[in-house]
Amino acid sequence: MKKARLATLWLDGCSGCHMSLLDIDEAIIAVVQRADIVYGPLVDAQEFPVDVDVAIVEGAVSSQDDLEKIKRVRERSRILVALGDCAITGNVPSMRNRFLVKTILERVYVEGADAQKGIPTDGVPTLLKQAIPLQDVVKVDLHVPGCPPSASAILFVLNELLDGRIPDLGTKVRFG
Ligand code: SF4
Repeated sequence: MKKARLATLWLDGCSGCHMSLLDIDEAIIAVVQRADIVYGPLVDAQEFPVDVDVAIVEGAVSSQDDLEKIKRVRERSRILVALGDCAITGNVPSMRNRFLVKTILERVYVEGADAQKGIPTDGVPTLLKQAIPLQDVVKVDLHVPGCPPSASAILFVLNELLDGRIPDLGTKVRFG
């Protein structure tokens, strides 16, 4: 049977959702027997590939770079999963939303800097006015709440999706 093509993406999140994915421990062996992991922090692929069956996305959309990435991921993936509260609600990254971007950058890079004061411009993605959840910019097929979602919930989701079903998460997950 043809293996599914699985990708993960890390936008504006703390990596905790990816850590929780790794917490499925040895069960990852059974997952990779059924799916090729074609993109993600654990894979040395520079460009998000085409023809992805399942894309699992951690984090909010906070920068122009994030925005372009999530649109590309949506175009190239059959099922897009928002993993964790940051991807679903904005959560921690959206705590900056009540401040102007300029105010935040000056606070961090000018007022808060001991040396080399100045807002960086080279090689730094331009921040959006607000950190926003995935569903504000792309269609999301499945929301998996939690900060982070438990490893058991993530494994359940993976197995259901690889079996060709959209999982019924019921009481298996909760926000926070
Ligand atoms: S939902 Fe929680 S664990 Fe996941 S990226 Fe956001 S802050 Fe980190």
